[in-house]
Amino acid sequence: MEKESHHFQAEIQQLLDIVIHSLYTDKEIFIRELISNAADACEKLRFGQSSGQAIYQPEIAPAITVTTDDKAGTITIADTGCGMNRGDLVENLGTIAHSGTKAFLKQLAENKKPDISLIGQFGVGFYSAFMVAKKVTVLTRSLAADEPGWQWVSEGMGGYEISPAADLPRGTKVTLELKDDAKEFAQAQTVERIIQRYSSFVPFPIELNGKRLNTVQAIWARNKNDIKEEEYNEFYTFIGHDHEKPLFRLHFSADAPLAIQALLFVPQRNFETLGMGRIDSEVNLYCRKVLIQAKAKGLFPDWLRFLKGVVDSEDLPLNISRETMQDTSLMQKLNKVLTGRFLKFLEEQSEKEPETYGKFYHEYHRFLKEGVVTDFTHKDALGKLLRYESSALEAGKSTSLADYVKRMPGDQKEIYCLLAPNRSAAEASPYFEVFKERKWEVLFLYDAWDEFVIEHLHSFEEKPLRLAEKAELNLSTKHEGALSEDAAKDLAKWLKDTLGDKVNEVRVSQRLVESPGVVADSDKFMTASMRRIMKAMKPDGPDLPAAKYDFEINPAHPLVGRLNAMRQKDTALAGSVAEQLLDNARVAAGLLEDPRTMLSRLNSLLEKVLAKE
Ligand code: ADP
Ligand code: MG
Repeated sequence: MEKESHHFQAEIQQLLDIVIHSLYTDKEIFIRELISNAADACEKLRFGQSSGQAIYQPEIAPAITVTTDDKAGTITIADTGCGMNRGDLVENLGTIAHSGTKAFLKQLAENKKPDISLIGQFGVGFYSAFMVAKKVTVLTRSLAADEPGWQWVSEGMGGYEISPAADLPRGTKVTLELKDDAKEFAQAQTVERIIQRYSSFVPFPIELNGKRLNTVQAIWARNKNDIKEEEYNEFYTFIGHDHEKPLFRLHFSADAPLAIQALLFVPQRNFETLGMGRIDSEVNLYCRKVLIQAKAKGLFPDWLRFLKGVVDSEDLPLNISRETMQDTSLMQKLNKVLTGRFLKFLEEQSEKEPETYGKFYHEYHRFLKEGVVTDFTHKDALGKLLRYESSALEAGKSTSLADYVKRMPGDQKEIYCLLAPNRSAAEASPYFEVFKERKWEVLFLYDAWDEFVIEHLHSFEEKPLRLAEKAELNLSTKHEGALSEDAAKDLAKWLKDTLGDKVNEVRVSQRLVESPGVVADSDKFMTASMRRIMKAMKPDGPDLPAAKYDFEINPAHPLVGRLNAMRQKDTALAGSVAEQLLDNARVAAGLLEDPRTMLSRLNSLLEKVLAKE
């Protein structure tokens, strides 16, 4: 049989026109496409073997060989896979049986900057060769024992020629004569880099000019019971570029609602706190072991950006493009499934490996908190992961909200949280007194972000979260020697008159045991601790509008009793004491910006005390 000329199907001509003339910058993906085809062919060979079919050259193992010739300006991708007979050639490399080209053309037409990188997803990856080649030659011999070999040659738009070829080994060899502006793909170094990037996990050996390239397996696609610890760690080193072992590892697969295989790692260290600036997620998206998108955007929420690993999904549809990938409902679905699964994993780890979880929490709690504040979808799952010190536990130990709720006595309706710089400050806080007296547990929150977390989380297991300073609680017992209700109210009124604008309102407190007075927020928009945070963030910034507090006094405190007596006798002295009491309460709340302002008053008070001797 002699040479036969063929035209490309109209749609393929159209496609070639775009591909050949594209100014697309990531031309390198043609290597990924041709290697993927070679790998598919190897897979089909295996399938043929396992089905008991008579195979030509059965002793030759499936493998992929790439050779470059920079003098000739060619690159060749050969495989020992299933090969093609004449009918296959015409059907596969010239016409299109499925709707791939149409869908791809439509997508290219809709995009102003066509993204050819997804060409493989549309089932027309082979034609990407024409981005870089002026001539493509395919030599192929089918796995069937009685088929001859064939040559297929095309210089693009004009069509292709098929002729018989003698003495071919089984498989396919695709040779590209590179265009002048694509000669770099005849350079071994360049090609090696590209193969490592996209095709590291192709499950058949790839050799480039005699050198074996892909030595790390796509272990995510294997059964986890067959994978050794060292293999996981080696894989992590490879993809994570991290010399330490990972802190956590999650390997899972799912069939519904999406086919997913994922292998995710949490590094030992939070690189963001190591002064590296904001980190980027390093989870790569694969489709059947071939890289689709490195550091895939939108695969996980931002607050999980510390994750490294691989997600492989066969369900990536034909109608995605890189720019719109983030918006597709598929990506959102993937995101939701993956995030939910990872949070569930963390919850399990917190029970199975509390110590490792503690380490994780120490490194990454800010990310979880960022999640609570920014992501409504996973709030409940995130709430379960929070850990705080508590008045019911010794220092250094922390509790989950779930365990706190279990310990709540029946008459306690809310979860109480106290913001403080550290444990001793929390225990000395006047806001803690009523809880201590009632023996109710309070969570101690030392992180400035926690106030926002409490606010956004709002409740846990239907129990509202309440800041201790906002708790409306009364002491369980009345104290001896307290001012009468009327006397206390009169004193409160006098204090308001005396302190004037410095306070919003003066009240008789029902929650103080040891302290004479306490300030309480009356500002609904800016709580005391939010003020502290804002001040800490911008110490030299403009002054915040003057804070207004309510002042609560303890009618059972001796100081308050004596102040009440004194105000009849020495109004000036009583006034000074009143101001000092307020300042003391502000100090206790961490709200006195410059304590020096009270020194002169304090000194004159001391003078008066000493003068009485
Ligand atoms: P897809 O790989 O998605 O089917 P391609 O355009 O990459 O689309 O390839 C078209 C078809 O050509 C393949 O389905 C396959 O049948 C055939 N083919 C391409 N390369 C090879 C190869 N190296 N060995 C055997 N068949 C091949
Ligand atoms: Mg292909």
